[in-house]
Amino acid sequence: MIHVEGESPAIQNFVHALKENPPPMARINSVQEMETKVNGWTDFLIAESEEADQPSVEIPVDLAVCPECLQEMLTPTDRRFLYPYINCTNCGPRYTVIKKLPYDRAQTTMKEWTMCPACQEEYHNPFDRRFHAQPNACPVCGPHYVLYWKEGSVQDSVEAIKLAAQLLKQGEILAIKGLGGYHLACDAQNVQAVTRLRERKRRPAKPFAIMVKDMESARAIVDLTEEAEELLTQPSRPIVLAPARHTLLEVAPDNGHLGVMLPYTPLHHLLYHVGAPPVLVMTSANRSGEPIVYRDEEARLRLKEVCDAWLVGQRPIARRVDDSVCRPTVFGPMVIRRSRGMAPLPVANFPPSPPILAFGADLKNTVTLVVSGKAVMSQHLGDLEQYEAFEAFEQTVRDLLAMYRVEMGEIIAVSDRHPGYHSTQFAQELPVQKLVTVQHHKAHVASVLADREAWDRRVIGLAFDGTGYGDDGAIWGGECFVGSLREGLMRIAHLRPAVLPGGEAAAKVPVQALAGFLADRIHWAQEMGEKLHLPKRYFSAIKLVEKELHTYPTTSMGRLFDAVAALLGFFDEISFEGQAAMWLEYVASRAPLKKRYPFPWDGRKNELDYGPLLEAMVEDLLKGEEKGVVARAFHRSMAEGILEMAGDISEREEVDTVVLSGGVFQNNILLEDMKELLQEKGLDVWLPKRVPVNDGGLSLGQAALVAARYQGM
Ligand code: ZN
Ligand code: ZN
Ligand code: FE
Repeated sequence: MIHVEGESPAIQNFVHALKENPPPMARINSVQEMETKVNGWTDFLIAESEEADQPSVEIPVDLAVCPECLQEMLTPTDRRFLYPYINCTNCGPRYTVIKKLPYDRAQTTMKEWTMCPACQEEYHNPFDRRFHAQPNACPVCGPHYVLYWKEGSVQDSVEAIKLAAQLLKQGEILAIKGLGGYHLACDAQNVQAVTRLRERKRRPAKPFAIMVKDMESARAIVDLTEEAEELLTQPSRPIVLAPARHTLLEVAPDNGHLGVMLPYTPLHHLLYHVGAPPVLVMTSANRSGEPIVYRDEEARLRLKEVCDAWLVGQRPIARRVDDSVCRPTVFGPMVIRRSRGMAPLPVANFPPSPPILAFGADLKNTVTLVVSGKAVMSQHLGDLEQYEAFEAFEQTVRDLLAMYRVEMGEIIAVSDRHPGYHSTQFAQELPVQKLVTVQHHKAHVASVLADREAWDRRVIGLAFDGTGYGDDGAIWGGECFVGSLREGLMRIAHLRPAVLPGGEAAAKVPVQALAGFLADRIHWAQEMGEKLHLPKRYFSAIKLVEKELHTYPTTSMGRLFDAVAALLGFFDEISFEGQAAMWLEYVASRAPLKKRYPFPWDGRKNELDYGPLLEAMVEDLLKGEEKGVVARAFHRSMAEGILEMAGDISEREEVDTVVLSGGVFQNNILLEDMKELLQEKGLDVWLPKRVPVNDGGLSLGQAALVAARYQGM
């Protein structure tokens, strides 16, 4: 609320300037003007925040250090020379230091540091860049960094950072406290160091993110389009996936892409300034699937076996926030993980309803709170199977409700329909006004519609992913819907059902999925398996399928990708979700597009039939066709089959927008092929813009389906 007094033209100028020329990080959603009584005030003053019923203020997000602060930090005469906690109103921590709203220093983790007179002066001076910068600090009054290693500790910030850079250069592994948690860092160009990190972290294959010194180093490591550079430099400084120019051994095995980010805290810049290697592995300190470690004692204890030294900042972190991840695609930028610098900004405007709290799914969990017509989505919380992730999930639910002053008793809670999900069970225990469940794949499609605020648009919605609990209890994942948010979504087609020996556990073993997709021609499956030298596990799975033991029906597209990966030689168990499909994409990316296979759409049964597809691939492999060529052709055939289905349904239903959602659509080759083929079809394709296409976007879709149909529910 701004109270201005003066002559009319001056006030008009002020309003104009506010709208046209706001401070760099301000985002003006709307301006409402009203007349009020004249008090005869002559000074500029920021009054204490008033406690409102429901804070209309958004929780601000963490921002990368700004150019002005960077320059000050590297100026020897500046009083913040080499100070790792430099910040101003245009940059620095927000969500990761805020304990309560409104956002005032006393309600942040900076509370325990009292500003010195020089900092006070800036804080109270309307003409200063640090006017009301809540985390304002300097080397005299603020927190510092300390290094702990085998020879004790280094208490001086600058000396600590210098030694840290030195240790990194020598190939050591460091735990480094950042904005939303700890990273494990080492020299990405030192194979021994990276290998050691993999062994100690017990993470054999999942790609590590890297941080590069500057844009120049980024360009040397990955191929960057203009769009990718824009993503890299946005204020949230996310990890951007881009094609690797060189292989960095052990950083991203069997993967043609690297996840790259630029330095975003003053500390990162300082590390490079004092000589840290230009390309660093910067991976969240956690065990796979867990959220990032953020408390100091936790880091000291749990990383003992992993790192050689700790670079610990004294400013506490209020909550864990992982790095965000995105990538450019032929359909525009795609968010893969929405977290630091993005969450918890609102993602969409919603129609009026009581507060809604949606709990997402158990993998890549996020939660969404709808309050005062806005959908606020949490940061990425991880896989709820893990205790730490579940703890973060509970804390975030508490946080969001407290910050927006919403009572548990007034909310409509929404969970996935899967009875075994931790998120579902958690929701069932809460004293909420009402609990609703939404089918997984409907929520996927709805998330894209909500992201676009398309409340009435009728669409064809494709939800292709690994697994989700179907309305008939089967494992769904290759689903096609028609409908809108307002009228609801109707499942009208799907992948031809296969069986999954071992049920959802088979998601870890691609050869098991392969056996299940050949259930209707088991004799042939046995024969060709021998000719292709498939491993033992495949044949035991065939036996299960034959005897119909522990087999469950599935329409999962993700499992079809797994089956194809197995056919082409991916025999191991996977060590992270999506690994086999990523491997398959990598194999395909290195071969030319030479042929295509049949992936027929049956418009009477409303099924996409993978049978002829697998048959043709096997035939080719037996003829000795190169695996890359087969993998490449598989992707093309996928795209053709999908678009044939979409085209047919589009004519039948007179709908021309196709919504894509689910983890399968993170596949770049598939997206590129679809884009190319689309030109002949006259279909409009929608992917989400602000939320992840994977399960990270589900909570928004859940909330939207409930909000759209809310009428005194
Ligand atoms: Zn700044
Ligand atoms: Zn100070
Ligand atoms: Fe899903």
